Amino acid sequence: AATIVAEAGAPLQMVQDAADAAGLLFGVDIGARGTATVGGNVATNAGGIRVLRYGMYRAQVLGLEAVLADGSVLTSLKGLPKDNSGYDLNQLFIGSEGTLGVVTRACLRLHPKPATEVNAFCAVPSLDAAIALLAQLRQKLGPLLSAYDVNFAPLYGAMIAGMEAPAPLPVGSPVYVLAEIQGSESDRDGDRFAAALMQAVEDDVIDDVVVSQSPREFRALWAVREEANRFLFSIAGLISVDVSIPLAKMATFLRETEAAIKAVDPSADIYVFGHLGDGNLHYQVRTVDPAAAYGIIYRGVAAAGGGVSAEHGIGLDKKEWLHLVRSDAEIAAMRRLKAAFDPNNILNAGRIFDLAPG
Ligand SMILES: Cc1cc2nc3c(=O)[nH]c(=O)nc-3n(C[C@H](O)[C@H](O)[C@H](O)COP(=O)(O)OP(=O)(O)OC[C@H]3O[C@@H](n4cnc5c(N)ncnc54)[C@H](O)[C@@H]3O)c2cc1C
Repeated sequence: AATIVAEAGAPLQMVQDAADAAGLLFGVDIGARGTATVGGNVATNAGGIRVLRYGMYRAQVLGLEAVLADGSVLTSLKGLPKDNSGYDLNQLFIGSEGTLGVVTRACLRLHPKPATEVNAFCAVPSLDAAIALLAQLRQKLGPLLSAYDVNFAPLYGAMIAGMEAPAPLPVGSPVYVLAEIQGSESDRDGDRFAAALMQAVEDDVIDDVVVSQSPREFRALWAVREEANRFLFSIAGLISVDVSIPLAKMATFLRETEAAIKAVDPSADIYVFGHLGDGNLHYQVRTVDPAAAYGIIYRGVAAAGGGVSAEHGIGLDKKEWLHLVRSDAEIAAMRRLKAAFDPNNILNAGRIFDLAPG
């Protein structure tokens, strides 16, 4: 049935490896694959690099087992692709950050293992060009396109300086794109990808591009993407947010947010990368005034019609900003759910929102 039942404490990588051993693929991959667990992935509705192709963690969940605050156990591990027999209670536990129940097992959907995996690292002249390239690749490649990440200057130059491996492309472009295909026709997929990229070069959407020619080069290009985390984690006092912005509003958001942060602190450093295919930016700032920067970013996100958490959840840090992107009626409904499932407020109390308004 191409499903797997995993216990909540299993690390993501164990699920990926078990799928691989069965000739299949698990659709979610994130940098924390070695430590992040199935329970934590479910609770945070983890996303990662291939949401474009496979959806978020929610899309992988066919069923869950969860223990409620009163000790009752809900088990739904039949793995049915279709089951409209009443409410889908599984959905309540996905992305609710452990506030409604403790997940103990999950039945997860697996996918065919791709025969082809190729990626390309592209220097592009602007965010508009990166968005145009995304549209072209989607149009030409359809579901073959499996990931589409961006890295904005000056992050690429700063992280390349400390990288042991050689840089795939010279520093100096405003935006870099890492695009990936996963396909089932190894004799055709790479050619289709190369043709789409070459067309984009001719259309001046791409300035420079390097395409992986071997599994080693494929891994090396992904390692460049993961280098962003290594570089950013090494900076003390950096503030880091994970937001989603409609693509049509992203350029305005980036321009106005940077101007407002620099008006408060002209020496602030801003580092941005993310999953452009999902409208998801990881936005980092080193500044002497973190409180002002948080306010500027989150109000900018709200003005753009975005979300204050694209994939990392609200937790404790972001709950003061939730009201910017969720209506009073939505937050009141969340409170009613919490009170119904956990009347004594014993499960992750104070996460996402406080039970009492105000
Ligand atoms: C290097 C790095 C890269 C990352 N990249 C991405 C990325 O690209 N995309 C993305 O979406 N995320 C990313 N993340 C965040 C990641 O998704 C979460 O940290 C992870 O999914 C949480 O799993 P965990 O086991 O670490 O949970 P924890 O951090 O232990 O817990 C997270 C939350 O889930 C709750 N929880 C944990 N287990 C259960 C359970 N069994 N039942 C109910 N609630 C539970 C906890 O109470 C807590 O509220 C990244 C994190 C790191 C460190």
